[in-house]
Amino acid sequence: MNNKAFLSLGTNIEDRDANLQLALRSLRSHEEIKIEKLSSIYETDPVGYTDQAAFLNMAVQLATSLSAEALLELCLSIEQQLGRIREFKWGPRIIDLDILLYNQDNIKSEKLIVPHPRMCERAFVLIPLVEIDSTICFPGTDIPLEDALSSVQERKGVRLWKQINGEDESGLSGN
Ligand code: ADP
Ligand code: MG
Repeated sequence: MNNKAFLSLGTNIEDRDANLQLALRSLRSHEEIKIEKLSSIYETDPVGYTDQAAFLNMAVQLATSLSAEALLELCLSIEQQLGRIREFKWGPRIIDLDILLYNQDNIKSEKLIVPHPRMCERAFVLIPLVEIDSTICFPGTDIPLEDALSSVQERKGVRLWKQINGEDESGLSGN
């Protein structure tokens, strides 16, 4: 499991907390994944299409032996398993799992772009990510993501919703 990846999870269809916990449970139960750190859960006003319910967002650090492509397939299959249907872009979703970073790799294929293209503009992605690792830099640079965060608007639209203290403890999600 010598690859290090960061995922972003988001949901704005009830039961939002349960959706996050189900996605975490699926990740945890995969034998090629070890969840190493969880961020707290944040509540976020919708951006883009704003006439929809608030989101819960969090970030996850994991170790994995899966390739980035296989990790994406797993993320998409967890979305399906939780009942996500292809909604319109930026509309309501039961669960969204995005790969933010995979090692220090730059990946650009038809299906997968890593680092996630919009991560540096999104407070709801950067705040949980920087909570997990405040030293983390954008791949190929020595720019700390914490610095990127300080120039992002909308930081006020992201509120701490449930504090979680770092390490993954499966008990914490009640499963
Ligand atoms: P978004 O997350 O941007 O709101 P979707 O969740 O509907 O959009 O994802 C649409 C597609 O984005 C996925 O089917 C996937 O192939 C592609 N994609 C490209 N890069 C990534 C990434 N880093 N993480 C997750 N999906 C990605
Ligand atoms: Mg997505």
